[in-house]
Amino acid sequence: MKRTKKCSECDGREIYRAEIGAGGGYAPDMLPGAHPWWRTGRLEVYVCGSCGHYQFFVPEEYLSKVKESKKFARYS
Ligand SMILES: [Zn+2]
Repeated sequence: MKRTKKCSECDGREIYRAEIGAGGGYAPDMLPGAHPWWRTGRLEVYVCGSCGHYQFFVPEEYLSKVKESKKFARYS
């Protein structure tokens, strides 16, 4: 959705984007080990205006930190 600017579920092209906090503290941390303990990480969210499909992306600035984090293990 981010790169294609098209919904992977319905091929819709009405996409909305927002940047949100990735939690931590008293909320679940969606980017564990990829940000300092005093500051939350950030996530990009994309929503399809046609079917409501909702997708998360890790912003570029946090991607290298995810790779360095001991909480993330490489899967493939
Ligand atoms: Zn859609």
